[in-house]
Amino acid sequence: MSLVVVGTVAFDAIETPFGKTDKIIGGAATYSGTAASYFTKDIKLVSVVGDDFPKEQIEQFHRHGMKTEGLQVKNGQKTFFWSGRYHTDMNTRDTLDTQLNVLLDFDPVIPESYQDCEFLMLSNLMPSLQKNVLDRLRKRPKLVVMDTMNFWMETQMDALMEIIGLVDVLTVNDSEARQLTNEYSLVKAAQKILKMGPKYLIIKKGEHGALLFNEDQVFFAPALPLEDVFDPTGAGDTFAGGFIGYIAQTKDISFDNMKRAIIFGSAMASFCVEKFGLERLVDLKQDEIEERVQEFIDLVQFDIALV
Ligand code: AMP
Repeated sequence: MSLVVVGTVAFDAIETPFGKTDKIIGGAATYSGTAASYFTKDIKLVSVVGDDFPKEQIEQFHRHGMKTEGLQVKNGQKTFFWSGRYHTDMNTRDTLDTQLNVLLDFDPVIPESYQDCEFLMLSNLMPSLQKNVLDRLRKRPKLVVMDTMNFWMETQMDALMEIIGLVDVLTVNDSEARQLTNEYSLVKAAQKILKMGPKYLIIKKGEHGALLFNEDQVFFAPALPLEDVFDPTGAGDTFAGGFIGYIAQTKDISFDNMKRAIIFGSAMASFCVEKFGLERLVDLKQDEIEERVQEFIDLVQFDIALV
């Protein structure tokens, strides 16, 4: 019984008002898998990198309990590369460059040892590849969570709609929800997206928290008001990894448990943004996570006696 995480494993170059990095390790599956590893140790990665990808990083995946039999290393090819620049408010960013490289002819292979997958995280990746992975699992997982991005809405909308129609939970940010539906109201956007297939929708609103929708319920989780946000890259993937990691740990896919999972996801994302890249996420202690979750609880707790 395991959590399979599929998505990009990448090099990123990031510019924020606080500084600039050369190529550092990034990728949606890197962030999601690392965040999930604090909740479950049975994580199996599906992705592809070129032979320029450092072996030390693959060892770090192993230290976090991630199995990498489904991570293909392609000789003579280059790893997926993304570069982005954040604006002063850190809530918006421009993609400066996306080089698909090794993703272009990636054919995901699902090792036999992955077939017992109980939870599937389709982190950001080419939509047709997300669908390939779902199709190649012989048994449908108990819960399929998917994340995506404006890039795929602009380049592969038909394939994106196909996979959106097959998942249980979709996570997108507010501008992506609007782009997907042509609706400004997030409530109207949510209603439209839920008609596309997913039973649950999470709309991430950066420093303004996240909303969880299903047919007739809505839940709101705040983001922690942090003094300094250093680099938001990967926050969405980290959120999704914490969310599904907590669900995989508790094995409970009820709406009430998803509310708890959103708080754990938000707590993990709040660590992610404190430093560049993966830096803050790799050596977290369990009690740091618990303290952070307690801060979320304190943040929204109030007493009102209605007469
Ligand atoms: P987030 O900040 O959560 O949206 O995720 C940022 C991560 O997504 C970076 O580490 C990138 O390597 C990765 N990424 C950027 N563009 C794409 C894309 N089009 N498909 C998949 N992953 C991407």
